[in-house]
Amino acid sequence: MQPVVDDPRLRPILDKVYSGARLSFEDGLALYRTPDILALGYMANLVRERLHENVTYFNVNRHINPTDVCVASCRLCAFGKKAKDARAYTMSLEQVWETAGRGWTEAVTEFHIVGGLHPELTLDWYCEMFRGLKDRFPQVHLKALTMVEIAYLAQRTKISIRETVERLKDSGVDSLPGGGAEIFCDRVRRIICDHKIDGSQWLEVARTAHGIGLNSNCTMLYGHIETGEDRVDHLVKLRALQDETGGFVTFIPLAFHPDNTPLRHVPRTTGFEDIKNIAVARLMLDNIPHVKAYWIMMTPRIAQIAQRFGADDIDGTVVEEKIYHDAGATTSQSLRRGELLSLIREAGREPLERDTLYRPVVRSETTFTVLV
Ligand code: SF4
Repeated sequence: MQPVVDDPRLRPILDKVYSGARLSFEDGLALYRTPDILALGYMANLVRERLHENVTYFNVNRHINPTDVCVASCRLCAFGKKAKDARAYTMSLEQVWETAGRGWTEAVTEFHIVGGLHPELTLDWYCEMFRGLKDRFPQVHLKALTMVEIAYLAQRTKISIRETVERLKDSGVDSLPGGGAEIFCDRVRRIICDHKIDGSQWLEVARTAHGIGLNSNCTMLYGHIETGEDRVDHLVKLRALQDETGGFVTFIPLAFHPDNTPLRHVPRTTGFEDIKNIAVARLMLDNIPHVKAYWIMMTPRIAQIAQRFGADDIDGTVVEEKIYHDAGATTSQSLRRGELLSLIREAGREPLERDTLYRPVVRSETTFTVLV
């Protein structure tokens, strides 16, 4: 059946999608500019089903944020606090391990661990934390530290990025979550996160990690002061690095939440915008296997619809998300496994529990096995 394409700018793009040709920068711009969301969704769904048929992936994971103390003051952020702020917290190693254990009742397969740039926590401290987690939970995958945290630890330890990543890997880190990318454009970064590494440094940390065998995800923060050109530029740079390393597993578009940030005057993104970012990403990132609709950020309702607009993953149980909730997210802080299954099945998709590297997880009453 031929789809109805109202916007004539999309017709040549549809031909490319049918033939599997790579989309250009100008195609990306046309996709962002079109109001023809149904044609966009048709094309993104075509690619999504070509890659993953009717499956939607999810996992059972727990987020751990060891500290919200941060030396940076990114305007996009409601999470980071100064050390002297009465609301700031830093967990002891024992508290991190105890927090991790609380998620064990749902037999999590992944700990997702990120936090602020703490001025005193050392690389050795982090390595001990990861070794302690591996000792206690050897089956659980450690997806930990943004490219920004890694660059900061390297700088403070006065060693190279490569040595830092190698030490983290040796202490148990299995992959990287891919946060801190925001938008690579320097003009925007100077305004929203001028204390962070720049876009090319973010890509360099990812390149180094992939080079020593650590996979990562990648992200893009949208819905603040960036333009359509900035978004396409960001996607094209991720695609170029993926051509080189093949190390990205999943792309996660992240909607900016302005509450409690210095950019609180910026309006929140709409459902239309959230869905569009999923679809454009699926079409532009032809070499990144998975596109995730992160339900914490876009709400379970939109994440459910996104499964028909290019997303093949809706993340996991999460348990105790802090970063988006400090910025005013009104979603629940966790979903149980059964709730994720219902969200996926109601969208007519077939749920498949995965581990972090998308290997199927098979569960009995009390244990799980990752099929390798
Ligand atoms: S976004 Fe990250 S680096 Fe920036 S202030 Fe927040 S926690 Fe710190």
